[in-house]
Amino acid sequence: RLQQRIHGTTLEINLNALTHNFNFYKKQIKPGTKLMVMVKAFAYGGGAAEIANHIQTMGADYLAVAFSDEGVALRKQGIRLPIMVLNPVEESFDLLREFDLEPVVFSPEFLKKLGLYARHHQIQLSIHLDLDTGMHRLGFEQKHLQDLKKLISEFPELNIASLYTHLVGADEEVHHDFSIQQLDQFMSMKSEVESILDYKPLIHALNSAGIIRYPDYQMDMVRLGIGLYGVEVTGKHDASLKPVSTLKTTISQVKELPAGATVGYSRKGILPFGGKIATLAIGYADGYDRRFSGGNGYVLIRGKKAPVIGNVCMDMVMVDVSDFSEVKAGDEAIIYGEQISLKELADQIGTIPYELLTNISTRVKRVYY
Ligand code: PLP
Repeated sequence: RLQQRIHGTTLEINLNALTHNFNFYKKQIKPGTKLMVMVKAFAYGGGAAEIANHIQTMGADYLAVAFSDEGVALRKQGIRLPIMVLNPVEESFDLLREFDLEPVVFSPEFLKKLGLYARHHQIQLSIHLDLDTGMHRLGFEQKHLQDLKKLISEFPELNIASLYTHLVGADEEVHHDFSIQQLDQFMSMKSEVESILDYKPLIHALNSAGIIRYPDYQMDMVRLGIGLYGVEVTGKHDASLKPVSTLKTTISQVKELPAGATVGYSRKGILPFGGKIATLAIGYADGYDRRFSGGNGYVLIRGKKAPVIGNVCMDMVMVDVSDFSEVKAGDEAIIYGEQISLKELADQIGTIPYELLTNISTRVKRVYY
């Protein structure tokens, strides 16, 4: 409460909802299948250390971050789970070693560099291999497999902890055939790599949507992201997940304006017949996207929708409350939460919940309960 009064805006994180969602996905996966949780991008905006700590207690098996420094930050906060780093760079080799982080390797050149590094330091390193079956972002393609197998044999210092691929459209039915094609190609590529190993790496392919859509392909591990944070992306289990975060702000001032008055920068908001506006303590610097400007967005005040009027400012936004009988400075405004879903909000500006979640800036305090 005090936090909200000081800054005006807070992101409330409901750890019970997180537990609920974690258990929901636990139930979807077969006994023995491991659960990797994606805590990259500040745990989808929710606070990496707090979320990682919570799911470490809940029994997650693995964590994944995008960059090495995200992994280092987690280690410094006492996170002990194995951490996979999706996009490491050569300059971070020392950090990977010092903080016991497991890099993803996605090209023969990178594998060789890492192998030479491990040899030079006389250490064993656990690595993960990204196999590209259609995402065409990072990863070994079929044509690289000969080189890959040769390098793996050359560098016994590198222990292959896992082989994985990533689906491009597990959340959308229209991509079903392509997903199956990717999964089949992955099965064949991973068998080819496995054929030269005398141990079994973990095999994994599914993200949140994939867990729901392709239960037969859970393999040894699944990689849970958006679903843990309470956002359903397949349209199949809406009622089963609980929203984890609520973005709330406060009304700083209410103004009555005469007919013809304009609101905000560039006079974009117009009140032809006059009316009442409320100024909220959130702006694009907090992650309230400027695309919500001019009636594209709305917030909830006293349970009722108040449309954005004019352009979103850096630290504030104005909403039209002309037809509100009771509204005053200090009132709470909900940007999203239980009553406005992230999906609904994302649709207002033609984006996806992932972008909204990860855009909430660090100056917005996260409050856990
Ligand atoms: N696996 C990889 C390689 C990813 O990049 C991501 C997220 O982008 C995920 C899994 C998790 O995806 P989702 O958040 O859709 O569950």
